Amino acid sequence: MNPHALSLDRRSTAIGLTPDEFRTLGHQLVEDLAQLLGALPSRPVTTQKSPKQLSALLGDFPLPENGTAANELLKKTTQLLAENSLFNGHPKFFGYITSSPAPLGALADLLAATINPNVGANVLSPMATQIEKQTIGWLCDFIGVPNSYGGVLVSGGNMANLTAFFAALTAKLPHQLKEEGLAATGKRYAVYCAKTTHTWIDKAAHLSGLGKQAVRMIEVDHSNRINTQALRGAITKDKQNGILPLMAIGTAGDVSTGVVDNLLELASICRTENLWFHIDGAYGVPAAVLPNYQHLFQGMDQADSIAIDPHKWLYAPLEAGCTLVRNPQHLIATYSSHPEYYKFDAVQSEVATNFYEYGFQNSRGFRALKVWLTLQQIGKVGYMQLIEEDIELAKYLFQLADQHPHLEAVSHNLSITTLRYIPSGTTHSQEYLNELNEQITNQLQSEGVVFLSNANVQGTYCLRACVVNFRTTKKDMEEVVDYLVNLGHKIHAARS
Ligand SMILES: *Cc1c(COP(=O)(O)O)cnc(C)c1O
Repeated sequence: MNPHALSLDRRSTAIGLTPDEFRTLGHQLVEDLAQLLGALPSRPVTTQKSPKQLSALLGDFPLPENGTAANELLKKTTQLLAENSLFNGHPKFFGYITSSPAPLGALADLLAATINPNVGANVLSPMATQIEKQTIGWLCDFIGVPNSYGGVLVSGGNMANLTAFFAALTAKLPHQLKEEGLAATGKRYAVYCAKTTHTWIDKAAHLSGLGKQAVRMIEVDHSNRINTQALRGAITKDKQNGILPLMAIGTAGDVSTGVVDNLLELASICRTENLWFHIDGAYGVPAAVLPNYQHLFQGMDQADSIAIDPHKWLYAPLEAGCTLVRNPQHLIATYSSHPEYYKFDAVQSEVATNFYEYGFQNSRGFRALKVWLTLQQIGKVGYMQLIEEDIELAKYLFQLADQHPHLEAVSHNLSITTLRYIPSGTTHSQEYLNELNEQITNQLQSEGVVFLSNANVQGTYCLRACVVNFRTTKKDMEEVVDYLVNLGHKIHAARS
């Protein structure tokens, strides 16, 4: 057939799929995925293939001129991914902070994509907008802040923090910022956070035009929390030098060690100094749902803004982050510009929420659905159980390491444990132990039997396990310890 033959009277194209074709393809795909989920524990956590091998496997084929049947494509692609992926849903995956995705979330994404609401504007997503609003309210309830906070779902922690950061600048900088830019304000500014703050702060400093030198990276104390004494000192010094303090950032669940900054004290400093108080709770904030851990999060309800990642400890499939702001008008002041061609408000008489006014995105997908559905599927009580079990499993790993003659348990906070391998015999230099443990981490990650990442805890190279995984059990932890020690012995023996 002539590929350029147009059919304007009756559109005939494979892209549409008939309802029957869609049904058949969908059933087959779900069948294959169900099998994959069932087989997960008995498969490697990740592939051993190098990027070069993967590229060869994929094949260097050009953009196809003509089409291929969808069933063939789905079958091939499912196999390609099933055999060559890292599975963060595997019971022995503890790397970074990437959770086991709730299977209902995967189905929710299918539903969301099929309806395909554009959750930028209420008129384009009537029910989806309501669902996102409800989800945000529930997230507030979940972490224990008043649901007068408002916000927006974003792609993840970086965007959640950035979205709040720019709202803080709009709120705290002189009004000419929006029209005339930072230079016209004629002042120098400073932002405060712990040295251990996630790298999003570098992006924010750079892209905001404040510059990285405007960020005061405050030292941490022996427990890895921001040193509030040093923070007070830095603020005083800046004020003496005519530099205007803008905001302070606390982390609730540090990426490396899971530690939560002293939020109550940060809140008090921010109140006294009239600073915007932001909390990066991308990972740790859901633990505030547990009565036994609530004390760690005291002061959180005084935050001007909070970042939280449902794709971490709420087990949503990637991507789902969320910015919560005490007074959501700050988001609108920052992100809404009401250009002429936006007439959404005119369509409905009552005031509608148009999420394009709350963040960077204009067209927006329906991220809220997977979060909303899973919150209902297991409820708050279901989450309390999972989060507490994750914490207990991380603690169990810490205890196992602590009792083992060849392991050193370095830290445990929330569901993150850091540890390292220590060979027997003469005392080894810190330098040797750091190198050895780095080699163990690299080898472990390439073997794909278990997956841990690493952390630098005050100069000590550690292996790091973060449990945000509803499939993990005690037995997995015991096997991780055996595996680690054996690998340590092997690598140490080969080196000496
Ligand atoms: C994970 C994490 C981030 C980054 O989140 P992304 O979703 O990866 O962008 C930022 N801060 C903290 C504390 C985190 O745990």
